[in-house]
Amino acid sequence: MLGLMQQRPLLISNIVDYVATWHAKTEIVSRDPQGVIHRSNYGEVATRAKRVANALVKLGVGHGDRVATLAWNSWRHLELYYGVTCSGRVLHTVNPRLFQEQIVYIIDHADDGYVFFDLDFVGLVEQLAPHLPKVKGWVALCDARDLPAVKVGNLLCYETLLAEVSPDYVWPQFDENTACTLCYTSGTTGNPKGVLYSHRSTLLHAFAACAADGMAFSAKDSILVIVPLFHANAWSIPFSCAMCGAKLVLPGPKLDPESIYTLLEQEACTKAGGIPTIWLNFLAWLDANKGKLDLSKLKLKMIFSGGTAAPRATIQKVRDDLGIFLLHAWGMTETSPIVTLGSPLAKHENATPDEIVDMQVKQGRQVCGVELKLVGKDGETLPHDGQSIGELKVRGNWVISGYFKGEGGKVVDDDGWFGTGDVATIDPDGYVQLTDRLKDVIKSGGEWISSIEIENLALLHPDVFEAAVIAIPHPTWQERPLLLVHPKPGANPTKESILEFLSTRIAKWWMPEDVVFVESLPHTATGKLLKTELRTKYGGAVAVKG
Ligand code: AMP
Repeated sequence: MLGLMQQRPLLISNIVDYVATWHAKTEIVSRDPQGVIHRSNYGEVATRAKRVANALVKLGVGHGDRVATLAWNSWRHLELYYGVTCSGRVLHTVNPRLFQEQIVYIIDHADDGYVFFDLDFVGLVEQLAPHLPKVKGWVALCDARDLPAVKVGNLLCYETLLAEVSPDYVWPQFDENTACTLCYTSGTTGNPKGVLYSHRSTLLHAFAACAADGMAFSAKDSILVIVPLFHANAWSIPFSCAMCGAKLVLPGPKLDPESIYTLLEQEACTKAGGIPTIWLNFLAWLDANKGKLDLSKLKLKMIFSGGTAAPRATIQKVRDDLGIFLLHAWGMTETSPIVTLGSPLAKHENATPDEIVDMQVKQGRQVCGVELKLVGKDGETLPHDGQSIGELKVRGNWVISGYFKGEGGKVVDDDGWFGTGDVATIDPDGYVQLTDRLKDVIKSGGEWISSIEIENLALLHPDVFEAAVIAIPHPTWQERPLLLVHPKPGANPTKESILEFLSTRIAKWWMPEDVVFVESLPHTATGKLLKTELRTKYGGAVAVKG
């Protein structure tokens, strides 16, 4: 027997209408590249999103057509987030930090008809345009008076386009499985592949993101969105925060610690999300400027961190220096991205501060709405004992079923499980702990050594700013770990001091074969350690003891 409840499509326009009706005056604050603060609100953003929809109609952009952005976190980018998706087009957020050839590839692959770009990217756009004959127009995200001469065919001005059309527009109703946003994964090998989200997946994911044991967004929050709008829908923030009417603070391109601090203080931010490197730099700057800052002015209650493992040292410093909780998140572009979040359980009420940190270092518990399992080398399901190491597989309503245009072939098994390529343990409470990417695992004498765990421990050394561990070949043990260390500014650690520090913290057979000091470590366009480059550079070059 079927239930007798209404079935209305889950569409992003539901959220946008909600926030425009009930939280119209809640602020959307943006800082532009020059540092100028712009104040808008959900009401204005929603009205202008309707102008965006009318402008797209005028430009001849059809239902399902892709529209690209090359833009920082700003109110105009948010307008596109709502206007493009709610009107039935697909917003393709392009990561401007990708290599130029990759950007050309993905804009071409996505068949983007129009590219909306921030003025910071004029040079990039001029280089891209000759390689992208299918792009019909390039829309500069600025006022007519600021429109520079850009050497591209059909240069358009965003504000002029919006001024020429009406804000009257009724969001259309359509199938909730309709595509809404497109984001390409920035794999280190091969061409990027497109993840095509649907309205339904986006809404379900946003509900999970808002939940109390999720990122716990509420109308009382002011959220600093450091995670880029061009990376996996900024962890759902444009949608989940609109769902509850939280104030958004969009920092533009300046993400240095001082700029972040200024926004946190001025905009009374209660939550902020970004990758661990952001927090690493921020905490180092706080240390250096302790005497000059009045931290009591901050309203910050929680930081969320994902994309790479949040190191223990960072989690402890967030607790000790800021007096707040770091919520560790894990997921992938392919999973919308949230799969696990490190919120505490009732049993942690009585836990010691160190036990809480032990829990926070893990990547968190699976949120309800997706399913997770740990799989061994022969495909067997492994127990949640905190010891068994296997690959994480995931399935659910906001997990990919296939890449855009079928690239990569079949990516889920017959039961819908998607292999994440991440290797982990799951403890009896459900907390996942990532040990490695499958391709980064160090196979030593038939056992696996976790590069993430050694990196994490190395970061506890007072002179270590950043650390990376890669596998190097070994005649007896097959592979051994090599530790690369970027020291803190002004620090001069020795190899011996680092090895001695580690020797009391890890098993003897996990000890790095060698330590190499570097001036910096390479990162991918989404801030992850670029281990392929490190392996090429250091993987074979180190003399290995027999
Ligand atoms: P992306 O699709 O660019 O978001 O990258 C997803 C990958 O980032 C995952 O498969 C993990 O390898 C890594 N990742 C994401 N969050 C974390 C985390 N909290 N700890 C460790 N690795 C992470």
